[in-house]
Amino acid sequence: SFKLAIVGRPNVGKSTLFNRLVGKRLALVDDQPGVTRDLREGEARLGDLTFTVIDTAGLEEADPESLPGRMRALTERAVDMADACLFLLDARAGVTPQDEVFADILRRRNGRVILGVNKAEGAQGEAGVLEAWRLGLGEPIGLSAEHGEGMGDLYAALEPLVAEHAARELDAPRPDRPIQLAVVGRPNAGKSTLVNAILGEDRLLTGPEAGITRDAISVNVSWGGTDFRIFDTAGMRKKARVVSKLEKLSVSDGLRAVRFAEVVVLLVDAQNPFETQDLRIADLAEREGRAVVVAVNKWDLVEDKNRRLRELREQFARLLPQLKGAPLVAVSAIQGKGLDKLRQAVLDAHEVWNARISTSQLNQWLREQTEAHPPPAPGGRRIKLRYMTQIKSRPPSFLAFCQRADEMPESYTRFLINGLRRDFGLEGTPIRLTYRKGE
Ligand code: GDP
Repeated sequence: SFKLAIVGRPNVGKSTLFNRLVGKRLALVDDQPGVTRDLREGEARLGDLTFTVIDTAGLEEADPESLPGRMRALTERAVDMADACLFLLDARAGVTPQDEVFADILRRRNGRVILGVNKAEGAQGEAGVLEAWRLGLGEPIGLSAEHGEGMGDLYAALEPLVAEHAARELDAPRPDRPIQLAVVGRPNAGKSTLVNAILGEDRLLTGPEAGITRDAISVNVSWGGTDFRIFDTAGMRKKARVVSKLEKLSVSDGLRAVRFAEVVVLLVDAQNPFETQDLRIADLAEREGRAVVVAVNKWDLVEDKNRRLRELREQFARLLPQLKGAPLVAVSAIQGKGLDKLRQAVLDAHEVWNARISTSQLNQWLREQTEAHPPPAPGGRRIKLRYMTQIKSRPPSFLAFCQRADEMPESYTRFLINGLRRDFGLEGTPIRLTYRKGE
């Protein structure tokens, strides 16, 4: 579930807040020995939100001498474990130098931070809340853990984060389901020959699995021990002799198959690859967010195979920059050659399409990138990227919080996407990056 870490210097009221959020469910608190001896976890409830809360208060009884170093280590660990942090201050004390140390840690880790100012009841409390603005960690929320005040504001700050997290868990991959594969390409590229080579024999026509769904024909097959559902509309219909105007049908059916697929194999003819129709299908696959593998067929007819492969890679990179890094595999469907490589490329593409990158890794990466190549500064003011998280997979989609999202140039977004692809090995899948205006 969603994890919220409560961090802050001793005596700001972390435990009181922890107890209020966890309440009677305190019985469930798990004192995990060893690893997290100083971190308490409990199941929290706030309105209709349920989440896990991590408390770093265990240190308050620690030896004051060793406190700063351990507190830092513990806070860093809590930040890395958590999906968000509630950074707690004491309104009556204002912002102390020790608070600044915590703010620094949080800024450097770039985690999602909710700034809470505890003991905020009364006029002195209000002043403390105002003062907290200067930390630059967004809008401070006035709280009273002891009296239960400010819980509505805390709810409002947490709710979108918990919802986003829940949405992310929902779209987790389902390993029990066959991988949905579409084989698309121009007529005569060899699609049905390829699918038949995968199936072995002409099972396509007779197999009991072969059926016509509303929009496409599919067949289930265990290919090298992995279950696939293959969509190859045109080829199948041709074999089934239901097609009269093959040329027309194959393209639009190919497009439909793309929508059903997780991985799209774009099959091209080695003699004349990457013609307009191929490019159109590839582009559609990218826009639909599918993983793409390019298979170059009729490789048996190619003379100078090494040179041709180099040429093809160059052409592909030039004509389809949006599919940068997608694998290109040479096959001979008719001889059944290159199928193992193709299968492996499909599995790899499917895996990166499902990839999940942890928020702490992403933010470490974002920090390095923005330090090495800062975002532009239109009007003399630099655009700041505060935080990045992966909101979903299939395909990997990222959200960055950015003050002036609408001024972010396309070129910097492309720079980030290319970097994500390179540094996290996301070859063969589209990558989405969107911005949200945030602190
Ligand atoms: P589809 O329209 O994409 O389904 O293409 P088909 O599978 O019907 O193949 C079109 C033609 O190309 C047929 O004559 C096949 O025998 C031929 N073909 C398919 N794969 C290969 C291959 O790997 N090598 C060669 N030389 N011919 C192939």
